[in-house]
Amino acid sequence: MRFETRAIHADHESDPVTGAIMPPIHLSTTFERDPDGAYPHGYTYIRNDNPTRGALERLLAALEAGDEADAGGAVEAAAFASGSAATSAVFQSLAPGDHVIAPDDAYYGSSNLLRTVFGPWGLETTFVNMTDPAAVEAALRPNTRLIWVETPSNPLLKITDIARISAIAHAAGAALACDNTWATPALQRPLALGADLVMHSTTKYLGGHSDTLGGAIIGRADGALFNRVRTLQRAGGAVLSPFDSWLTLRGARTLAYRMRGHSANALAVARLLASRSEIEAVHYPGLPEHPGHDVAARQMALAGGMLSIQMRGGEAAAVALAARVRVFTRATSLGGVESLIEHRASVEGPQTRTPRNLLRLSVGLEHPDDLLADLEQALNTL
Ligand SMILES: *Cc1c(COP(=O)(O)O)cnc(C)c1O
Repeated sequence: MRFETRAIHADHESDPVTGAIMPPIHLSTTFERDPDGAYPHGYTYIRNDNPTRGALERLLAALEAGDEADAGGAVEAAAFASGSAATSAVFQSLAPGDHVIAPDDAYYGSSNLLRTVFGPWGLETTFVNMTDPAAVEAALRPNTRLIWVETPSNPLLKITDIARISAIAHAAGAALACDNTWATPALQRPLALGADLVMHSTTKYLGGHSDTLGGAIIGRADGALFNRVRTLQRAGGAVLSPFDSWLTLRGARTLAYRMRGHSANALAVARLLASRSEIEAVHYPGLPEHPGHDVAARQMALAGGMLSIQMRGGEAAAVALAARVRVFTRATSLGGVESLIEHRASVEGPQTRTPRNLLRLSVGLEHPDDLLADLEQALNTL
C-alpha cells in the first residue's frame, strides 16, 4: 500500500460488531478478564493501552515506516499528551551524566527543556549548528548518547542532512532522534535515512486542524531506546486521550493531500516575498538560493508549509506587517488549514535567540491568490 492508502486503511478495518466504517472512540478505562485471569483482547487499563490510541499508534507507525515490511509492525509508535511530553520521554530515557548534542536553531520548548529541566536533572547538552557535520563531530564526547535534530528547524528553516548526522551518531555509539513535526512523514521519513527515533508534535500537521494537542515517538519495536520510551509512556502516564487520538486519526487521513497544498502555497508565498524590497531574507528550503536547498531536495519530497522572513525595517516593520494582514491570522502554532503569522521573538521571551525582525508564517490551504494579495496589500501600506 502506498502512503495515501496507508493513511486511510492501515490502522483499522470496518468494526466487526457494528460494521462502522470508521473506528469508534473507546472511553472505557478498564477491560474485563476471563475466568482464568487472562485478558482476551490484550487490553488491561487505559493508561497502558486504549483501542483508539492503539489505532493512532498503528497509523503513525505505518506512515513513518520506511518501507512495506516495516509498515507491517517492525516499527511502532507511542502517542503522548503533547509533543513536549514525547520529547521529555526521549530525554528521560537517557541517564544522568549522559551527553546530548542538540541544534542551535530548534523549537524553543525543546531547547528550553534541555536547559531548564534536563540540565539540572544531569544531562549535559551541547548546542551546535546541525547544518555543519564537522561541528557535530567536534562536539562528540565519550558519553554522547543522543543527537537530536530538527529539520526544517524552527524558526530559521535550517536543513540538517539526516543520513549524514545519523552516520556520525552511529559511528560514535550514539542514537539519532529527529523532530519531524514540520516535514511530516508525507514529505520526509527519517527512519529510512538512519534515524533511530522520530518525534512529532501531532498538534501541528498530523492533527492538521488546530483543534487537538498531542505528540508521538516512533521507532523500531526491537530497539532498546524505543522500548524505554514505551515504558516511560505507560509508567509516566502522559498518554494521549481517546478523543485526541480520534481527532488526530481523522486529521491524518488527508495528510498527503494537505502537505501538497501547504507546500505549493508556501512556495508561491516565498517567491512573492523574495521579490519584495521590504524584505531582507526569506528562509524557505524550496527556494534554490536557500543554503539547505540541495539537502532538502534529496531528503524531502516537497519543502513544506513553513517559512520565515526578516524585515529590512527591523522589529517595527515586522510588527507592522503582522498588524496589517487580513487573511493571515496573528497567532502562534502551525500546521492547520488556516494561515498564521507570528512575531516569534516576542512569543519566546527575553532568552530568545530569534532575530527581532523575524516573522514566521504557517501557510494554510486558502486559495494562494488570496494569500498573495493579502501580503501584498499589507506590504504596500508599510
Ligand atoms: C509545537 C512543536 C513542538 C512541541 O509540541 P507541543 O505539542 O506543543 O508540546 C515540538 N517541536 C516542534 C517542531 C513544534 O513545532
